[in-house]
Amino acid sequence: MKDLDFLEDLTACELCEHRCKVNRLNGKTGVCRVTLPAVASATLHPAPPESYTVFMAGCNYKCLNCQNWTISQYPDNGFDQRGYEDPEELARECVKELGTLPAQLMRADRIFFSGGEPTIHLPYITKVVEEARQMNRGTRINFDTNGFMTERSLERILGFTTSITYDLKAYHDEVHLALTGAPSKPVLRNAEQIGRHAKDKLWEYRITVIPEINENEVKPLVEFIANIDPTLPVCFLAFRPNFVLEEHPGAGRVLMNRCVEMGMRSGLTNVSWSGNVGLPGTVMGIESKVSEHYTSQGAQLAASYAFHARCQTHPRDCSTCTSNQACEVKTYVPRIAT
Ligand code: SF4
Ligand code: SF4
Repeated sequence: MKDLDFLEDLTACELCEHRCKVNRLNGKTGVCRVTLPAVASATLHPAPPESYTVFMAGCNYKCLNCQNWTISQYPDNGFDQRGYEDPEELARECVKELGTLPAQLMRADRIFFSGGEPTIHLPYITKVVEEARQMNRGTRINFDTNGFMTERSLERILGFTTSITYDLKAYHDEVHLALTGAPSKPVLRNAEQIGRHAKDKLWEYRITVIPEINENEVKPLVEFIANIDPTLPVCFLAFRPNFVLEEHPGAGRVLMNRCVEMGMRSGLTNVSWSGNVGLPGTVMGIESKVSEHYTSQGAQLAASYAFHARCQTHPRDCSTCTSNQACEVKTYVPRIAT
């Protein structure tokens, strides 16, 4: 392996707001449990913005509804990933793939870093981008994120990205914590920073709508965005059963249309929804052992699912959880293939 000086930030990692300060280069792990940056897979991808998408392994969240759970819960669930790759080689692959006929037919015009969460690999991605731009100066970059980076990391990301796709999971801390294990405040702060000062880079905010869990979060979220700037783009994604929420019902068409109406009523002018709707499922009952720790029904329900996946710490908060190095949610394998 070549010189890893460019990964110096990993020696006291504060790339995201968990701010674990562990030395990942010495094999220590924080909430994300990732040491060296690892690539999960890479492929041409037709979803807008069309791209050569690099999926990075590992995440700083433990979302109950994760659709990429075989990647995001790396390294604990043991699924194969490509692993650490020389940044120059990965850059070469990306630039080459974007120059192929299939890429041109697809109109793929950028490298799209996704995951997992790319923020936890920020110095590595920065290096890949540098290498790619040495090979092709005009290389465009999309950063697909859950928004839980520090302000410093956001500044760095804004320094090299062409576009950002930005997930918002919930407005209120307790729903966000119950669903992801992390609080919402830093995510809202960063979303506002982008909306106010880097609007040209925002591809869209994305809100996955999960029946009965974050339905009531939609109104405060769209009002929050409309207050920043009503022209900011928002796309609602219909939840489909996944990971710990493998038996929870998908979002229906009526709910998705209601979300768009809510967005428009709050003043948003660029709001839409996408995804498959109406997938069947059953809502789990609320677990009495966790309900006292949460006030809203959405948080209680999310926490009940987390409890079922053996999250024992409530209110859920992966930053302070004493079990975060042996978290059983990270090893959860759904019975139903999703
Ligand atoms: S969770 Fe965030 S701060 Fe902690 S080690 Fe991972 S990237 Fe670093
Ligand atoms: S057990 Fe701890 S680390 Fe795991 S999901 Fe629950 S709060 Fe987070």
